[in-house]
Amino acid sequence: MFLVGAGPGDADLLTLRAARLVMNARVLVHDGLVDPSILAMAPQGCRMISVAKQRSRHTMRQEEINALLVREALSGNDVVRLKGGDPFVFGRGGEEAEDCFAAGVPVQVVPGISAAMGAAASAMIPLTHRDAASIVTFVAGQCKGLTDQNWAGLAGVGRTLVIYMGVATADAIAEKLMADGLAPDMPVAVIENAARPQMRVLRGQLAALGAVVADNKVKSPALIVIGDVAGRGDMMELKRVLEVVK
Ligand code: SAH
Repeated sequence: MFLVGAGPGDADLLTLRAARLVMNARVLVHDGLVDPSILAMAPQGCRMISVAKQRSRHTMRQEEINALLVREALSGNDVVRLKGGDPFVFGRGGEEAEDCFAAGVPVQVVPGISAAMGAAASAMIPLTHRDAASIVTFVAGQCKGLTDQNWAGLAGVGRTLVIYMGVATADAIAEKLMADGLAPDMPVAVIENAARPQMRVLRGQLAALGAVVADNKVKSPALIVIGDVAGRGDMMELKRVLEVVK
């Protein structure tokens, strides 16, 4: 079983190894975050199995996905399991690999560009910068017992906090961080559909994070970046000016 990262969006952000596996796949299991342009690279005759959320039916439970992968692999198929971003960053790749190994199915993992890196590059927000941040933390905004989790020290001066799956809880996240002592005017950026043509980058301050998300009707997939790097002279604007001048 190949556990393959599909990157944050466009097909040209796949690794060469991932592209080769997709182009030769016989059975491909994918979720909703994988861009259609990547699925289109699979060869004719490849069996495509979607385990994405669909309005017409319930999401496949994780155990069912794991069982599907094991079943397909044990029946002799080379299974390509494609996941958005990197399989081992908030992707449940660990759970799928464990169940495969337990069933005697060998697993190879192909890393992908995680949404944080994709968003940083396309929104021109360096995750580290010698003048602004030398620590980066990735957290999940939607997880068991968010309010009880200790996030103290994860954000603040000299640090960048990147929040995956945080759109629905943006308001609570801002409250939690300010309760931990973070300045209400700490810069934040919300990056929706990073590395895709329809990307939006919204900037603001921590105290208004919930409003930024609500007023702009931000939808998943989106990342929240909190820290001085999110407010550094709007490099996107500098880039635009340079392009106009040229
Ligand atoms: N394994 C994935 C993350 C899966 S969790 C990775 O490494 O990127 C799903 C979350 O990832 C989304 O809720 C969102 O916060 C983030 N995400 C994934 N793709 C994204 C994109 N193109 N733009 C912004 N956020 C994205």
